[in-house]
Amino acid sequence: MTDEQAAWLHAQIDEDERTALRVPEKDRTWTLDGTIRSGSSTDDVVDWVYIEGAAEHMVLNDPNRALREAGLKRRILAIHRRRADITGQPGGTFDDCCHGCGYEGDCDDPVVGNVNDCPERHALAAVYDDRPGYQEMWSQP
Ligand SMILES: [Zn+2]
Repeated sequence: MTDEQAAWLHAQIDEDERTALRVPEKDRTWTLDGTIRSGSSTDDVVDWVYIEGAAEHMVLNDPNRALREAGLKRRILAIHRRRADITGQPGGTFDDCCHGCGYEGDCDDPVVGNVNDCPERHALAAVYDDRPGYQEMWSQP
């Protein structure tokens, strides 16, 4: 079974990362001192921001932050995967369950029977709900 949701999420994260990596490494940390500056450059990243609060927001979401978030999201996806993808032994009763959400009860039944219903993955997908390919069914908690 193809894990379409995971593939789509990885594509969104890859796009975020590619965009951040387009900024030269020496300029990926931004500060605010009247204008937005990068860590090493005397040139302004942006010389004037007209919208109140936008400059602070941009500094808090600089390219290095985007790269750290991409790493975090990949770690979450590595945990919340199909059981069969982790065990490498497909053919089991709970192959499609979310291994990361765990198991419960006397019979160790999966908490989430299908990884596409994983609330952690839905939360990740919600970050990208304005991008093509987002599916409304992923908006369920
Ligand atoms: Zn999960």
